[in-house]
Amino acid sequence: MKALSIKQPWASLIAHGIKDIENRTWKTNFRGRVFIHASAKWDERSNSNNPDDIFTWTQRKAIPDKVGSKFLDYGVLVKDDETPVSAIIGEVDIVDCVINHQSIWAEISPFCPVTGLKHFASITNEDSVFVETYGGPFDSYTIPIQDPDDPKEFTRTRYCHDRGEWRGDEMISKKTGIPKDRKPIYNWVLANPVIYEKPILNVKGKLSFWEPDIIIEECIGCSGNFDYETMQQDSAGENYCSDCAKEMFPLMKAEYDEMVRKGEIEE
Ligand SMILES: [Zn+2]
Repeated sequence: MKALSIKQPWASLIAHGIKDIENRTWKTNFRGRVFIHASAKWDERSNSNNPDDIFTWTQRKAIPDKVGSKFLDYGVLVKDDETPVSAIIGEVDIVDCVINHQSIWAEISPFCPVTGLKHFASITNEDSVFVETYGGPFDSYTIPIQDPDDPKEFTRTRYCHDRGEWRGDEMISKKTGIPKDRKPIYNWVLANPVIYEKPILNVKGKLSFWEPDIIIEECIGCSGNFDYETMQQDSAGENYCSDCAKEMFPLMKAEYDEMVRKGEIEE
């Protein structure tokens, strides 16, 4: 299984099932399960004195105290020693990759991926749903949607700021030569997160998706996932984490000795 490196506190928020979106400047077609790897570094905005630098009010409210108390101090993000870094901390499914998802964790794309126009405003449509528009200040447009029958054609809706009203659909073609710095933000939609009871420590991260060069095995004692190198095997070849081995091997040995003594099994 592949891994994805994410800075803290985002990696933990994802593994805890609080943050359901990973925001990236690149699009992925990968769908499936990945290891959540907490990078060596925290988000560079941590320890900033302004709480609004990193979380919106709604996001901060969505973090339960049980999780947030570790790295939030009156709303200010602080690095703490308990939150693991350079570690595989859990797993999650990547189920979709979209622009301007409705989740509170989704970053609004600063540029339109089809026209390269700058984000202008969030405007409510006829269904009272907020829609992001690009362009302005006289007219701004929704993100053009590709025609399934003709991939060269797109449809967008114009909002006239003079009249303060939606002005209907228009057809356009995808713009070429959009400056490279006009990158959209992609919201990777995540589902079914699992956080490991014990993180797998000392794992170095890489860019993009990467295959961990350690073997991860499940402990038959506690069902946790561990680096195989740190585990112990019983006589049947089953894998135990060091804690379970410490607890169970003496018991297994005593039971074995007892059975030999009673003649139930041969030594
Ligand atoms: Zn165990």
